Amino acid sequence: MANNDVSAALRAQYEPVIGIEIHVQLNTASKAYSSDPTEYGASPNTQTSPVSLGHPGTLPMFNESQLHAAIKLGLAVGAEIREVNEFARKNYFYADLPKGYQITQDKTPICNGGFIEVKDADGNPKRINLTRIHMEEDSGKSSHDIDPFNTLIDLNRAGVPLLEIVTEPDFRSGEEAYQYLTEMQRLVRYLDISDGNMEEGSLRCDVNISVRKKGVEKFGTRVEVKNLNSFRNVQKSIDYEVNRHIALIEDGGKVTQQTLTFDASRGKTQLLRDKEEAHDYRYFNEPDLQPVIVKEELIERMRASMPPLPKELFAKYRKQGLNEYDASLLTDSKEIALFYESIIEHTKNYKAAANWMMGSIKSWLNERAAHIREFPIPAATIAELIKLVDDGKVSNTAANGELFKALLESPESSAAALAEEKNLIQESDAGELQTWVDAALAKYPDKVEEYKAGKKGLTGLFMGEVMKLSRGKADPKMASKLVQQSLEK
Ligand code: ADP
Ligand code: MG
Repeated sequence: MANNDVSAALRAQYEPVIGIEIHVQLNTASKAYSSDPTEYGASPNTQTSPVSLGHPGTLPMFNESQLHAAIKLGLAVGAEIREVNEFARKNYFYADLPKGYQITQDKTPICNGGFIEVKDADGNPKRINLTRIHMEEDSGKSSHDIDPFNTLIDLNRAGVPLLEIVTEPDFRSGEEAYQYLTEMQRLVRYLDISDGNMEEGSLRCDVNISVRKKGVEKFGTRVEVKNLNSFRNVQKSIDYEVNRHIALIEDGGKVTQQTLTFDASRGKTQLLRDKEEAHDYRYFNEPDLQPVIVKEELIERMRASMPPLPKELFAKYRKQGLNEYDASLLTDSKEIALFYESIIEHTKNYKAAANWMMGSIKSWLNERAAHIREFPIPAATIAELIKLVDDGKVSNTAANGELFKALLESPESSAAALAEEKNLIQESDAGELQTWVDAALAKYPDKVEEYKAGKKGLTGLFMGEVMKLSRGKADPKMASKLVQQSLEK
């Protein structure tokens, strides 16, 4: 079984156990303990004051924005928020860590508990419990692949604030891990505490993986996979490792505790180091920073400043009658959800509002790779369009077609006035409609015969012709009735 081939039957005898650590880089303007800017992509080593460089005699100063971000995330996941927050030094030597230690939180993380909900293999809701969230700082960045002989070091990142989020070993599949990460990314973006971009390293995750025979309580030996650059690769590395562990155990071997990386091009993990040489970080209290005290009042202030959360909006939209697909698309990004929110301030036709968002508006955005804030038509005007269609004044086709185009040209106009001006007000006058119906039937006499012989599906053809003749102005409900009647004659 050398090549990790594991049959489904064998796989079913085992249970994967997975825990995830995420590092979220916060989008604060300045670093965690200095006023150095944090902007991504600046020239190497240009955002490095003596504090970031760890020069002797410099002192850290705590950036409150980091605290605010931690509290917001804690509230969003329902964690307990600590009152007295101490900082600790985690000591290790590495060239991109000029101080020789990282300032972090050891025994007193700002948040304990809380959870993120995912769906298990049967589609049932399942909680992924969080162990802790703590505040810390980033190290510098080492590049091993730019210069062929040397490792290059950029200390711009040294001291950028991070939140580390650690889960309980609650995941049972790569799919659950994928959902969790997607939700976490969406959450930090909603809360506007991080851009959540994996490519730029704003969201980095380490995945701990083990397997155990079903029914066994004791966890198996775990490996840790680092440097994962996409959620799909997280899922793939889990699937790969789970199969490898099972094959190894079935072969009479033993999993050893190792740190691995995932080689995405080969779809395999690779050994980074054996865990035997486990570090002793000699944690001790950071003497240069006072503990940060979180008062109830601050927590309440943060709570009041929070946007609606994606899961709350999702539940609300489901309750308003949208299906799961629409509700989840609408809540994918905060900006889309908020635009939808402002449409439904003016209409109760939620389904139509969702259709506008996912249809014409989304297409407009996609064609231009534009952001919703660039969309020119006000939400209230979209609601006006919905009303025009609901009242039978404008056809859905005309509303999404010519009228939508006209509004894009002059977004400050009223939809009704433009419809009038563009001659798009729907014809529901029976006499006028009948003329178009007669013309449509006259154009295809042979099809009329076929219809009479039983080919009822042909009504679509005649309706299409009526819409064409009327330039989309025929009220489709009435026209359809007239077509039917005329054919039955
Ligand atoms: P470390 O200090 O080595 O990082 P932690 O105790 O902080 O270890 O755990 C790190 C992560 O590993 C957590 O998300 C935890 O849930 C997970 N974990 C712990 N034991 C196991 C195991 N046997 N299998 C899979 N994941 C595990
Ligand atoms: Mg850890």
